[in-house]
Formats: sequence, structure tokens, C-alpha cells
Amino acid sequence: MSYLADVKSVEKLNRLLDVCRNNLYTFDENLIRRAFEFSWNAHVKGKPRASGEPYFSHPYEVALVVAKEIPLDDVSVASALLHDVVEDTGYDLKSIRAEFGDGIADIVDGVTKISGAVESHEITRAENYRKMLLSMAKDVRVILVKFADRLHNMRTLAFLRPEKQQRIAMETLEIYAPLAHRFGLAKVKWEFEDLAFKYLNTAEYEFISRKLNAKRREREAYIRKFIQPIKKRLEQDDYKFEITGRPKHIYSIYNKMVKRNKPIEEIYDLFAVRVILDTPDKNDCFSVYGIVSEIYTPVPERFKDYISVPKQNGYQSIHTTVVGPEGKMVEVQIRTRQMDEVADRGVAAHWKYKEDVKVTDRKLDEWISWVREILEQPAVSSGEDAAKSFLEGFKLDLYQDEIYVFTPKGNLQVLPKGSTPVDFAFEIHSQVGTHCVGAKVNGRIVPLNTKLNSGDQIEIITSSNQNVNPDWEKFVVSRKAKAHIRRWINDETRKKAVEGEEIWTKKLKKHKLTLGEDDFVKLLRDLKYENAQRFYVAIAEEEIEPERLITRLTQQKAVKDSSEANKPSQTFVEIARKSSEGIVVDGSRSDWKVSYAKCCNPIPGDEIVGFVTTGEGIKIHRKNCPNLARMAGAARERIVDATWPGESSGLFVAGVSVSGMDRPGILTELTHSISSHQNTNIRSVSAEVRDAIFESQIIVYVRDKEHLERIIDKLRKVVGVTKVDRISTGTPGRSQNG
Ligand code: MN
Repeated sequence: MSYLADVKSVEKLNRLLDVCRNNLYTFDENLIRRAFEFSWNAHVKGKPRASGEPYFSHPYEVALVVAKEIPLDDVSVASALLHDVVEDTGYDLKSIRAEFGDGIADIVDGVTKISGAVESHEITRAENYRKMLLSMAKDVRVILVKFADRLHNMRTLAFLRPEKQQRIAMETLEIYAPLAHRFGLAKVKWEFEDLAFKYLNTAEYEFISRKLNAKRREREAYIRKFIQPIKKRLEQDDYKFEITGRPKHIYSIYNKMVKRNKPIEEIYDLFAVRVILDTPDKNDCFSVYGIVSEIYTPVPERFKDYISVPKQNGYQSIHTTVVGPEGKMVEVQIRTRQMDEVADRGVAAHWKYKEDVKVTDRKLDEWISWVREILEQPAVSSGEDAAKSFLEGFKLDLYQDEIYVFTPKGNLQVLPKGSTPVDFAFEIHSQVGTHCVGAKVNGRIVPLNTKLNSGDQIEIITSSNQNVNPDWEKFVVSRKAKAHIRRWINDETRKKAVEGEEIWTKKLKKHKLTLGEDDFVKLLRDLKYENAQRFYVAIAEEEIEPERLITRLTQQKAVKDSSEANKPSQTFVEIARKSSEGIVVDGSRSDWKVSYAKCCNPIPGDEIVGFVTTGEGIKIHRKNCPNLARMAGAARERIVDATWPGESSGLFVAGVSVSGMDRPGILTELTHSISSHQNTNIRSVSAEVRDAIFESQIIVYVRDKEHLERIIDKLRKVVGVTKVDRISTGTPGRSQNG
């Protein structure tokens, strides 16, 4: 069946086309016809409205509201006709897109999404709700269609159950009315407020409305009477002006009663007389004020000059209250046309200011003024195409830096744009974020880096085994998530560094390598690590093999040592430590620490004994050490047997004293005779000449007693040498204990 077969439907379409013709600057009649037909066909099989009317009556009425009360363009009228098709019929968005293109499809999609998001969740904060609404509407026309939809639903609210009436009325009063106000749609705002008030406080609404109605004729007659002399004078003085007197709407009267705590009879400003002057000169306002004051006696304390001192939001006007006929108080507002226009925008700014809304800024103001232009002067335009393309291109990008998403229980979370399930998880709780393994968005499992959209419902899946993944840092955008992930990474790095340092220290010890501060810094620089922490983390994470690094360092060190002309002190310590390992002491004490006494420098081949010290283990002395004899004299029981190991590979320090007749080159000959014997190393040489007698002490490295005796033999053969002795007491200058 086609709507054409239904006489009433054809009448309806013609009426809508008439309204479009009368209110829109320009429109595509065919587009309206097609949208009407599509909607009619889609809804024809649907359930009727609660009012008993066919469902189609709703989108049709909404389209009428758009065309008549928020007249913008044909696209918004067509979108209004189609706005419930996706939600209430078997048709999907694709078919609308195929039939009407992206512009209309996107608006229908926006309206549907808002309904879905809003109705399935309980949003407790009105401001969040408003923001969400704005953030979800990519195109301003989504909001306008939504306003018209809400207006028709409010007008037919009587047919719904009381609980639903209360919820919808509350939502309208808290969200849609301020939003309409902000959009500069004053009439829409008033109707929202009065209809909502009617359901939220029926008794008060009916009381005020009865009182207003009872006095309506009387009031209108009075306004005419009041205006008449003013009108006459202004015409005489050649002013171009408009003068009106309208009752204020019910909700605002109720607010005055509550605020002033007075019965309606005592509220004198149930209506206001407004004089709008078509003049660029603000001084005309004061002249007109003078004229009004000549006609009616003003109440001085009720005079307000918002022209010289505008309100914070830029509002300008003169307000005065005068004593009218029959002694009644009447409020008169005087302003220029321009001030009147600015007044609406100013009120929006004022609303912003009071609510302390985050800067939605210039853009909103620009938009409001633009909508006002379209609404108030549909005939004045720079041309059809210009207006149309402006409209097409206009996107509502308020609050686009924030998104509004929901927990499974329907609680609202505000997140920065670009947020992912991980951002959401950390927003809920740091523990949820830390242990997050997966996420469902609108019931479907998605990757954790999926970007969320306003209206999404998110469920986070956690596991106690999961921990923060450092890769998350690459895609999260919220401050909370970033901070938590960073802190976690820092903690992990610290732990890893400690681990790495332990490994490194152990390896150094194992290889008996010590690394000075300078060497370490140089090592980091060579390996290109910016600090020690990075280096240790690299070890813990096995990026570096410490074994190989140490081998390399040891080789470098060996090269360095040999090139630095034998630093015997270091080598000596090592040799001493090594060679003490093989010493055999009295069996029962075999696990004692054994070291060499510094007084007598025993070397293999010497007869030795051990002396048990307090705290320093067993010291090995030569048997004939005079120092030992002195100590043991008091405690013979502390002497234990000690023998050299069968084979020893170490080198030992021994000293010889050489004396003879001094002659040139003798020292060179002595040292040569030592080093030429099996490459024996000399540790130090000191020499003195007194009365032509040469005396020298030479400290050498030897394998054992026999090695030392061979050297002594060689020294004795040097010409001029008269005496060579092993130094038995005193030290070569350094402790053998290491
Ligand atoms: Mn609807």
C-alpha cells in the first residue's frame, strides 16, 4: 500500500510542504516527499503510539516542529521524518544512506545513538548529560531534531505512565531546557520548562495557570491601556520602535514566587513591557526613559542602567519600574535592536559563566549567533548556495576533546578523546588497569588499543596474573593511565637494575677483577649506556653477557699493566695470595687462613713454621725468624708445623744486601747480573756510597731458596763486590698479607 491511497496522508504531506514553503528560505520539495514516503512505509506496520495514533504521526509532527518552530533547512526536516526509522522499524541505517546519502544518514544515526545512550543509562549529573549530548552530535542538526523530538514527546506526555512522565520531565527541565537556552532558542526553552513543570509540580502549575487565565483579558486590556500614551509620544517624536507587553511564562513566575517568598497576587512583574528602538544611538534609550518617566511616575530604587554598566555577560538594557494606571507597578525594559540581539547571546554566556562550564568558547557563541541569524532572518541571505554550503560544512565540534562512556552498571566516565579500554580501566581503579587483560566494548571483545567513542559501554576483563604491559604506554592518552604505567615501568627498572648489579658484582669477584670509578664510567661510555641503571638493566635482561665483557676487560688490563712498567706492588699481592694456597699446616687446622709473616719473608726451601695469631689465622715464618722467637717465647703452644707444597708455581719476594768498592757502572752490572739469570724480576733497588764504599739493597722475585742462592752466587762474582747476604729481618717494604 502507498500513502497515496490514504487521503489523510496526502493531506498531511501537503500541509508539511506548505509549512516548509512558508518558513524555509529554500527547500527541495522532492526530498521532503521522498522522506515522507520512506518514513510512512517504514512505520506503517509498527506499533501505534501510546496515544493510540499510528506511529507515523510522531515523526511527522517532529518534522512539522522543525519546519515551523526551528526552521533551518530541508535536510533537517527530512531527517526529522526519518529519525525513528532505525530504532523502531526493520530498516537499517544502510538503507537510509543508500536512499538519502551521508548527510541525512549521519543525522539519523546521531539522533538514534543519543536516544540509545541516554535511555539505557542513568546519568546523574545534568552537566555530564549535556556534554555527552553535544559530544555525540557531530552535526548541529542532530541537536535540533532532538529538540523537536523532545518537544513533541513532551506535548504528548499525558499518554505515558506516571513514572515515565516524571523521568522525562526531569530530564527535560535539567538538560534540554538549559541546552535550548544555550542554543539561543528562547521559545523552545520556555515550552520545555512549562511542560516539564506541569508534570513535576502539577498543583502549582495549574494554580498559576488558572490565575493567569482568569486575568488574561483584564491583563491584555491593561497592557493596551498602559502602552497607548507611550506609543503616541514616541510616534510624535519620530522614533522607529516596537513596543510589546507579554506575560512571563509559568515556570519563571513560579521561580519568582519561590525566590521572593510571595503569593502570586504580590508579584507585580507577571508581564513586562519592552521597547525596542531601531536606532544605533544608545542615548535614545535614555531619552525614551525620560519620556516614560514623564508619563508614569518611576520607582527610583527599581531603576537599573545596564547600558552604562553592562552585566558581566555583556547584557545591555534599561530596566525601570513605574506606577501605571490604577496604581499598579509595571516593569519597562528599553533597549536598541542590537542590544536586544546581543541579549540572547549574553544570556547564553551568562549561563556558561554560572555553571562554570569548561570553555566551549567562541565556537559556541559563533554558532548561536549564526543560528539566530538563520532563525530570525531566513529571507536575508547571501544566496542559496552560500547558505547551503555553510550549513553542509558546519560540524558541531564542541566537547570533541572529551568522550563520555559507561561502565557495565551505567555509570558515566569522562575521558579524553582518543582514550582506549586501558585508559578506561585506569580511570576506574589503578588495580583494574594493572591487571587488565582484555575488554568488551558494547558486548564485543576488542583489542586493548581500540579507540573508544562517546556512548560506548565498556567492560574490563582482569586477571591477577597480568601486569602492566610497557607497550601500553604507546597508546594510552589519559593522564592517570600514563602516570600509572610510567610508575610501574620505573619500579620494574629499579628492580631489574638491582638484579643486574648483583650479577655484575658476582662476576667481577669470581674473576678477581676490581674496577675503579673512572674505569666504570669509561666502560659505560664505550658501551653507550647513559647511566649505570641502564647498564645493569641490560645485564639483567641478558642484553650483555658479563662473562665476555670481563674477559675483554681482563685482557685490556693485562696489556695496560705490562705497558705500565711493572707495578710490582699489585702483582706482588696477587702472587702472595696465590702461593699461600699450597701451604700445608698442622692437619687439624688445615682450613685456617694462612698468610706470610711480614718480618722474615719465607720462600720455598726455607724451613718454616706456622704461628697461630688471634684473628689473622696462621702466619708462616722462617724457623729462624728472630721475631718469631721473641713471640713464641711466651706462647710455644701457638706454633704449628708447616711445610711447603711439593710444587710451587708462584714467585716470592726476597731481599739481598750487596756491598763492595764503588766504581762507575757497578749498579748497572749488579742489576744486569740478576735480570740476565732466568729473567729474574727486580722489585726495587736502593744504593748508598759512603767513603768509596758501595752499599745496596735489592729486592727480587724468586721461585724458591735455590733460585735466590743462584742469584747471590752471581752477585758475588761481580767485580768489586765483597759481601752479599740475604736480608733475613725487616721487610721489603710491604705487607705480605695482601
Ligand atoms: Mn522520536
